Amino acid sequence: MASICEKDQATQGSVETRRMWANGPFRQWSEARVSRWIPYTTGGYVGAYVCEKCTQTCSGVYKVKMPTNNTVEMWLCGTCRTAVKPTKRHLATHVEHAPLSAVCM
Ligand SMILES: [Zn+2]
Repeated sequence: MASICEKDQATQGSVETRRMWANGPFRQWSEARVSRWIPYTTGGYVGAYVCEKCTQTCSGVYKVKMPTNNTVEMWLCGTCRTAVKPTKRHLATHVEHAPLSAVCM
């Protein structure tokens, strides 16, 4: 009989969310290796990035300046980034043209 020893669950409890450096992005971090995480230079292993706003893991985060306070920068996922800073559009340049003259015979 084959005896398969899975150790995937062994590290589940030790995962924490860490800021990778001063004012840097948050990332999942664990002292023990978790599945396909990569070793981190200062020790332990790192997984997915974590959004500072919604605290969800994501493949990448963006450094975003808060519109309310330009000195505050947060690391946000794509969704939160769009919510905080909507992509620039031409504002109020589209004016609905009323019919020049209403033809009513
Ligand atoms: Zn987010």
